[in-house]
Amino acid sequence: MSSHRAEVIIDLGAIDSNIKKVIQDSGKRVLAVVKADAYGHGLVPVAQQALKSGASWLGTALLEEALTLRQAGISAPIIAWLTPVTDDFAAALAHEIDLSIPSLEHLNAVVQSSEKLKKVPRVHFEVDTGMSRGGALSDWRALMHAAADLKSSKKIRIIGVWSHFARADEPGHSFNQVQLNNFEERISEAEGFGIRPEIIHMSNSAASLSHSSAHFDLLRLGIAMYGLSPDVSQMGSSVALGLKPAMQIRSRIHLVKEVPAGSQVGYGGTAITSRDTKLAVIPMGYADGIPRNTDSRAGVLIGNKRAPLIGRVSMDQFVVDVGIDSTAQAGDWAYIIGNENDGGYTADAWADASGTINYEIVTRIARRVPRKYI
Ligand SMILES: *Cc1c(COP(=O)(O)O)cnc(C)c1O
Repeated sequence: MSSHRAEVIIDLGAIDSNIKKVIQDSGKRVLAVVKADAYGHGLVPVAQQALKSGASWLGTALLEEALTLRQAGISAPIIAWLTPVTDDFAAALAHEIDLSIPSLEHLNAVVQSSEKLKKVPRVHFEVDTGMSRGGALSDWRALMHAAADLKSSKKIRIIGVWSHFARADEPGHSFNQVQLNNFEERISEAEGFGIRPEIIHMSNSAASLSHSSAHFDLLRLGIAMYGLSPDVSQMGSSVALGLKPAMQIRSRIHLVKEVPAGSQVGYGGTAITSRDTKLAVIPMGYADGIPRNTDSRAGVLIGNKRAPLIGRVSMDQFVVDVGIDSTAQAGDWAYIIGNENDGGYTADAWADASGTINYEIVTRIARRVPRKYI
């Protein structure tokens, strides 16, 4: 029996099923996106599972995340795509981490590090096709010109050219085609400089699930690997997409007590009981990643019965209304994110109830909540 007051349970079988489904449906290779501690699911265990399940690549935002994977003994190709020019590129090169290059400054910084080490950097050029975030825009041709020179003097190895969608979670939106057209033009320009990357990649989960003309050679699979929908209203729920959510969260009930009608609950007294009832105190709060502004559309599942949240979430705890007839007791499990089939609240329900997206719910669950793998 677990003695933790709360735990995150990660179903590695769900991750396995989600990856295999995408590989099977698309016929493409998958890069498992494991940034942000694998969206809160645990960097190394998820990366290991993803590779076992058929992913060929791993992707992180930070260089530190990529280095942690190497320290864990993982030898699969890894790309880190958010590396300021001040990063330790020598460490990246020493550990065979592929780097994303969005500008001439980045290219120069990486090449400078490599000259000292006598290592040829493996790079992926990032092109901005309309998101106006990462990637080269007006300087793309200058970047390709410099890349072609470095390639012919064998100072870089050009592995990839890539871009990122801003609105792939709105599959019918015309901007997706605008970005795709831009991408194809930029690839042609690169070819004009003699650059033919080994792999071209553009699709995140949403495009992987909906936009096969954007698949190219590799799918960068994030949220769908964790069994969540990129956007429930535009693309349907996990269930509708055939995905299995991998994360459950449960916590021991700290306290159950009766309160009379008219009791104000929590800081600010933002909720008042409308009847005599029982409340249960759940020992998780915003320090654990439970959003403070969640309303009563979220809550917990206790013994197959839903108990909605009441009042404001505190730093370490929140209160749910279990009803006057509840038999819930201190020490019982309360499922914060549960199995949808059992009637539990989902990451999507928590997202709706707090004005955010499922990505933010799972990613922000704090490290002080232990992860358990099944
Ligand atoms: C996070 C990220 C992804 C994965 O996005 P999902 O919507 O979670 O699939 C893919 N590519 C890049 C560059 C990312 O930063």
